[in-house]
Amino acid sequence: MSISASKVTRFYGRQQALNNVSFDVAPGEVVGFLGPNGAGKSTMMKIITGYLPASKGEISVCNLDITKNSTNFKLKTGYLPEHNPLYNDMYITEYLKFTGSLYNLKNINKRIEELIDITGLTPERHKKIGKLSKGFKQRVGLAQALLPDPEVLILDEPTTGLDPNQIIGIRKLIKELGKHKTILLSTHIMQEVKAICERVIIIDKGAIIANELTENIESTLKEGGGQIEVEFNKNPQQKELLKIEGVENATLNEDNKWIISSFTNVDPREKLFKFAVEHNLIITGMNKKEHSLEDIFHKLTADNNE
Ligand code: ADP
Ligand code: MG
Repeated sequence: MSISASKVTRFYGRQQALNNVSFDVAPGEVVGFLGPNGAGKSTMMKIITGYLPASKGEISVCNLDITKNSTNFKLKTGYLPEHNPLYNDMYITEYLKFTGSLYNLKNINKRIEELIDITGLTPERHKKIGKLSKGFKQRVGLAQALLPDPEVLILDEPTTGLDPNQIIGIRKLIKELGKHKTILLSTHIMQEVKAICERVIIIDKGAIIANELTENIESTLKEGGGQIEVEFNKNPQQKELLKIEGVENATLNEDNKWIISSFTNVDPREKLFKFAVEHNLIITGMNKKEHSLEDIFHKLTADNNE
């Protein structure tokens, strides 16, 4: 796998930003990481790129455990952070040479020329970064992420804050890059995923609620899956609940109720009853949350900046 996340949990102090997040991205895939603001997208991306440790769970990139192979894996991952930190006083080539020196790259000048061409920076190449439009600044960020010719690109909201023409340009560039690279791209806009990604992973409140081909996602969100709130007389273990067929996630909320999410059109209520019997538990309350996925769908499609 190009990226493999297994049961990743992250707290900031007492606040939980990620809850038991697992997913894989296969080589060559272009996957959208979609979720409303505050869902946990940037946190996950910082963990994948080694900028932030997970509180629990494992991550590998190109089958390397990121906590054990920091130098190797940094060459395999290009990262465009959410607030791309650029040096406004530097010229484009100067900046790329500077960041390239951190990777100890050979033939750096040749690589920079290639990247200026690939990212469409040629007409602006003699400007200082501070004089560039936001769209061109993003291109510099992409060139910097591509410096070591990484296998995997992690792009955190690459089109946020751009005007519609710049959005079209950057999406086109990302699509082109996706022909040769594995890409995980975060966004809070459904349209973006539809324009660029083959598959989409939806995250909300730190938990994955869907993971599907882009072409199927809208119908899943509108009709399928959903969340069930269930209360037992005593709490089972989360890992046991996750074994139930059709259950994708299980989280315990403050009222001691479990929120059980299912991806597909499976309704796990019958299986939950069987589970309770088999584990000698009594279900003291159960409630289907009818509109949770539909609400997410509206959030992700209404907030459309095009
Ligand atoms: P997204 O990128 O999807 O908008 P983030 O990963 O930035 O979400 O944030 C997830 C949650 O973690 C949010 O509730 C956010 O307020 C919280 N959070 C993010 N960074 C920090 C931090 N450095 N300290 C405390 N809380 C944080
Ligand atoms: Mg973010």
